[in-house]
Amino acid sequence: MTIAIRHIRLINGTRAVRDDMTILVRGTKIVAVGPSKEIRIPTGATRLNGRGLSVIPGLIDCHVHLCLGGEADVVSALESELPSYTLLKSARHAQATIEAGFTTVRDVGSRDHSIFTLKQAIESGLMPGPRIVGAGLAICMIGGHARFIGREVEGADQVRKVVADQIAAGAGVIKVIASGGVLTPGTSPDDVQMTAEEIAAAVDTAREAGKPVAAHAHGASGMKHAIQAGARSIEHATLLDEESGALMKRYGVYMVPTLSALATTAACRPSCGIPESALAKAKAMTKRHKASFKQAYDNGIFIAMGTDAGTPFNYHGENAQELERMVALGMSPMDAIIASTATAAKLIGIHESVGILAKGMEADLVIVNRNPLRRIEVLQDRDTIVGVMKAGKFVAGPLAKA
Ligand SMILES: [Zn+2]
Repeated sequence: MTIAIRHIRLINGTRAVRDDMTILVRGTKIVAVGPSKEIRIPTGATRLNGRGLSVIPGLIDCHVHLCLGGEADVVSALESELPSYTLLKSARHAQATIEAGFTTVRDVGSRDHSIFTLKQAIESGLMPGPRIVGAGLAICMIGGHARFIGREVEGADQVRKVVADQIAAGAGVIKVIASGGVLTPGTSPDDVQMTAEEIAAAVDTAREAGKPVAAHAHGASGMKHAIQAGARSIEHATLLDEESGALMKRYGVYMVPTLSALATTAACRPSCGIPESALAKAKAMTKRHKASFKQAYDNGIFIAMGTDAGTPFNYHGENAQELERMVALGMSPMDAIIASTATAAKLIGIHESVGILAKGMEADLVIVNRNPLRRIEVLQDRDTIVGVMKAGKFVAGPLAKA
């Protein structure tokens, strides 16, 4: 079965934009891309007229929590649910995510290993959803941030054991908590959490299995620990300073800004149900967060898009809001798309199969009827999406029903 998407504007995940292009998809893969007049369409192929439409690579969100539903108090919500209910909720969130054009997510913390069950169910075609690279439980210190979706550890030996255990369960990335956080009561974002030695033990054990480490860090000291220990990405990077920024640049560490997380929390009124402590912490950091993002962008630090979807009022399916937030802070729409496709794929380590639209890649793509390079926010409008293709099949949008 071959599908020819013809006469379309191609935004391919590198810097190229070309009009009147044709993409040929066979099975799960892109088998040809080129100017429409040069691509020969095999007889029997399904022909789609892409005139007036644009195509971008399937979007990638590098920081979600499918087990959280954007509740005002996510900690209480999880504590009041049975794990089986949380899994059903996660499945619903996975569907909302792919309908929004996100064909891959990196899930960096769930209440148990059921994220790997969900991944398996999606891969076997049982239910719709994005490709998932999951961390499973986050690894944190005793009493640390994110313990409601984490495993509390003490000492390098225990870290090694727990990391090996996570990888055996199916983790494609290891999440460590290197500073306090916003949502966990009693922790401060400025505090360092886990020792440098513990984080290094996590990185070493993960590396032996070929897996990267994503480190949650708001404060600069936590970031420095994680960068020096060899983390591949800093999640949030809220309070970046000169030194931590220079270290990220030197070691090629990725920033996953999650601007949506702090912004949606900080935008709330005191009566919205978000615990007072979380609201105060978010409001105090938003300005610095924006400055940190600008600093990273201006200094050429790798930026991979992530929303922290699932945190309060930061809903699955609204992931594309992050692109608008990045553009509002000075990033070009083209760079926002690259951060959400090619760069995200590199961070996750799947860039040989997804992230750009080229011959030999998996056919993950989004066809839209407006130009996101002119107005990036159109990606948030469901009427913009004409078709979401994952592995060669239209799975969402009007084309999935055609
Ligand atoms: Zn998170």
